[in-house]
Amino acid sequence: MSVVGSTPDQREATDEQLGLTSAEARRRLGRDGPNVLPAARRPHPVLMLAAQLVHFFALMLWAAAGLALLAGMPALAVAIAVVVLLNGVFAFVQEYRADLAAQRLRELLPSRVTVRRDGRAVVVDAADLVTGDVVLLDAGDRVCADLSLLRAHRLAVDESLLTGESVPVRPEPGATLHAGTHVVEGQAVGLVSATGSGTRLAGIAVVTQRAHRPRSPLSAQLHRVVTVVGAIAVGVGVLFFGVAVALGFDATSGFLFAIGVTVALVPEGLLPTVTLSLARAAQRMAGRNALVRRLESVETLGATTFICSDKTGTLTRNEMTVVRVWTPRGEARVRGEGYDPDGEVLASEAVREAVRAVADSAARCSPDAHAVRKQDAWRPVGDPMEVALHVLAARAGVPEPPRARERHPFDPRRRRSSVVDVDGVHVTGAMDSVLPRCAAPPEAAEDAEAAALRMSRTGLRVLAVARRRAPVPAAADDPEHDLELLGLVGLEDPPRPDVAAAIASCRRAGIRVAMITGDHPATAAAIAREVGLLGQDELVVAGGDLPPDEAALGRLLDRDGVVVARVTPEDKLRIARALQARGHVVAMTGDGVNDGPALRAADIGVAMGASGTDVAREAADLVLLDDHFATIVGAVELGRATFANIRRFLTYHLTDNVAELAPFVVWALSGGSVPLALSVLQILALDIGTDLLPALALGAEPPHSRTMAGPARRGRLIDGGVVRRAFAVLGPTEALVAVGAFVLVLLGGGWRLGQDAPAGLLATASGTAFAAVVFGQLANAFACRSETRWVGRVGLRGNTLLWFAVVFELAVLLAVLSAPYVPALLGGTTPSPWGWALALCAVPAVLLADGADKAVRALSTRRRTAGASSGRAPRRRPAARPVPAPEERDA
Ligand code: ADP
Ligand code: MG
Repeated sequence: MSVVGSTPDQREATDEQLGLTSAEARRRLGRDGPNVLPAARRPHPVLMLAAQLVHFFALMLWAAAGLALLAGMPALAVAIAVVVLLNGVFAFVQEYRADLAAQRLRELLPSRVTVRRDGRAVVVDAADLVTGDVVLLDAGDRVCADLSLLRAHRLAVDESLLTGESVPVRPEPGATLHAGTHVVEGQAVGLVSATGSGTRLAGIAVVTQRAHRPRSPLSAQLHRVVTVVGAIAVGVGVLFFGVAVALGFDATSGFLFAIGVTVALVPEGLLPTVTLSLARAAQRMAGRNALVRRLESVETLGATTFICSDKTGTLTRNEMTVVRVWTPRGEARVRGEGYDPDGEVLASEAVREAVRAVADSAARCSPDAHAVRKQDAWRPVGDPMEVALHVLAARAGVPEPPRARERHPFDPRRRRSSVVDVDGVHVTGAMDSVLPRCAAPPEAAEDAEAAALRMSRTGLRVLAVARRRAPVPAAADDPEHDLELLGLVGLEDPPRPDVAAAIASCRRAGIRVAMITGDHPATAAAIAREVGLLGQDELVVAGGDLPPDEAALGRLLDRDGVVVARVTPEDKLRIARALQARGHVVAMTGDGVNDGPALRAADIGVAMGASGTDVAREAADLVLLDDHFATIVGAVELGRATFANIRRFLTYHLTDNVAELAPFVVWALSGGSVPLALSVLQILALDIGTDLLPALALGAEPPHSRTMAGPARRGRLIDGGVVRRAFAVLGPTEALVAVGAFVLVLLGGGWRLGQDAPAGLLATASGTAFAAVVFGQLANAFACRSETRWVGRVGLRGNTLLWFAVVFELAVLLAVLSAPYVPALLGGTTPSPWGWALALCAVPAVLLADGADKAVRALSTRRRTAGASSGRAPRRRPAARPVPAPEERDA
């Protein structure tokens, strides 16, 4: 019977009903290799490194080095070159790691296909497809290899990836389906004709991978920040050059000042640090089953204010069991465990007879679903609900039905599935979709409706099963009419155990949650109540009753715990848009072939990795490997933590810049009578030697219990909060201590204003200022760990990397001040004990300033909220995004 596997020619007819044998498939896999595209050619590491050495800032610094050389300052030139190189290598390493992380994420994205092997439909990894495999395609599937089409039913294929043509095509048997296209409607059976690098996609992929990726909003925002700061750096540098010349310095020293100022302000390390911190977050999310498809989604996730979740599989376990069957002759209970076909129908023989008819028709409607026994447990293959119907058939003692002539599988718009056979039609689907097509007398219909409502109210999902026993002419347009209602099936799908906790956590975090489901309102409401999702006003709306006006829709749904039932994919799209129009950052789940637009419209489209269609996965920003609602919430938490971390090291970076700039300002304002406290080389040593690691450590600050303790902070990375802390509080404090220590050491050494200081004294004073900045930055690193709580409350533990950074920073400090040759080159020597003491003052000074600032803000926030709760409550602006005072929560 089998013609499989006897010849190596893959075009040799594989029996369509049997497929390959698994042995033959293995053999071909060994011969042809896995069905994967040739790896994207990434730029060579050397090129990536080179790119880090020639970007805007690097070029600026190279120019400075060149000028320094021309101006006869070779030491400075070399030092600047070393800075560019070190920075370049550092940036390269981070970018390389971020790239690797992103690639690993892509590899995690599940890709499975249903093939027929050994006469059974099995799900295999797309990489294991071989030529000659018989592939079963359904709406929503991605075509994973080039196929020649054997059979097509209402097939529509989206080829836009290959051809750019957005209107789906309707191929006929004999046509070729290319890898990379998507089935958007109907079903097909195809024979694999080419895999991996043999596919047409492989040829095209090589071309598209060379194209540049578009810049995301986050990276655009970052580039803007960096460019603005860079431009300011250059502007200030030029200004200081002017001041120096005006004060009568020669051009060389003026130039030295200018470079010092510019280098002090340029935020060289910023971009790679941000990228790495996003990549690290993405990796951590993947470890928690949340796969982001673009690094920038990490940040958007953190800003999520509204989660629209479906019910089945996300809030519930998607473990379906038929527990009740209603028939016009009476009701039955069904006993059995999971998908184990062992079990029984508890009812009188007359009712059992009716149940058998229900189970038979229901099972016929989903011919590809079945349960298999794997490692002592029965597992579903195919849609779990359809599998449950097969299990019911087994428990009721119905034999496996023959394959039908024509099949109309489930479609969330029709909400029913059906098969047509020579002797009649079988229909299974939602009550409100099937009942109108039945020719039932009104009393019978009323009975059925009452039974359906009874079951729904207990949280059961209800399916109506009907059939017509009459020959159907081939290709009849709409055979689903004049049906006889056989009965109702009640399926249990228990909620996932930790969903309730995740929903509670969303509430605390100010994130609204809505259930958006295709199921019946009563079932949806019962489950929503059970997991604690249903809000106080118990609002349950049916998709058909949603207001057509977008503003009204937004007003209706913008509250916590709404249930929208019987929705269509179009409803989802409108809901996402309406909530966004009210300022929400919306995460929307979807798994169907038609959910693509809604997933793309939402700020965060969430698709399912275990169930769900390939089409949905490819439209999504986030893929849940475990389909679990709590995973979304975990990802939001990590997103928030990451955003906060980026702000942490931004604050840290900018503070340092103020301290580095201060000596130049003092020198300029004093008309040159106060000497420069820090040399340009010392500033470079600060930027490279002592500041990079703590910034990195701050970027790795783990999320803590307060991350989800209040509403999201949305917005720009650099806002008033960051600017105030860096430029008005922490920076000036550090600068004051450094310049103060410098001047005190000078004065202590006998220097008076306006005099030239002796070189030895200047070197000690400068070393003291340098040490003060390093100590200040140490304290600053700890101060930046929280935006609201001072170091005494945050404590010193919780970030091991930061302590490594501290030790490293201190080592660099000692090296800069006391290693052989270095002090002479950089221009600062070891301070006296008294100088050390002065420098150490930077630690308490920064901590005190930070603590005082946070205390004042906490006080004013409290006063504001107290004022708001007593007396006139401020009226809520209707269109306001729910982002109350960011000060109230810790970032
Ligand atoms: P959910 O939001 O719970 O995933 P769906 O859109 O999958 O909802 O299903 C909506 C309704 O369509 C269900 O309540 C059920 O009545 C019906 N239905 C779902 N799946 C099938 C199927 N495979 N065959 C027949 N009817 C189905
Ligand atoms: Mg569903």
